Amino acid sequence: MKKNKKEKTAGFVFPSNVLKPVKNFLTQKLTQLKKTKKSISKRDPFLDQSRLTDNASIDDDAAEQYGHVVTTSIKSELDKRIIQVKKALSMIKLGKYGICEDCGKMIDTDRLMIEPEATMCAKCAKKRE
Ligand SMILES: [Zn+2]
Repeated sequence: MKKNKKEKTAGFVFPSNVLKPVKNFLTQKLTQLKKTKKSISKRDPFLDQSRLTDNASIDDDAAEQYGHVVTTSIKSELDKRIIQVKKALSMIKLGKYGICEDCGKMIDTDRLMIEPEATMCAKCAKKRE
């Protein structure tokens, strides 16, 4: 791989010995999230084809509806996290990890310790909410 030229915009770039464990952590997290999503998908009652033919009572139907809503919302939450982790990983690749994608300032290292997949500083993340 070619070494990236130092960019003027980035005042500070994390050294690779710091980024390596972060990258490993995020890669593991991504695998875990994907696994969880897969197992959640299996639990969605709407995926159970037998329900189309059986004479489920109204109570069962309501439970299925509920189960579907829950799995759907968990899945979309997982999707968001997967995207976020992927984003952080690509930032590492680009040599821009720890730099806010919005304002270009350094993200607080305290914030990164708690949320290694953060790609925005606390200020900008709050603005997006
Ligand atoms: Zn920012």
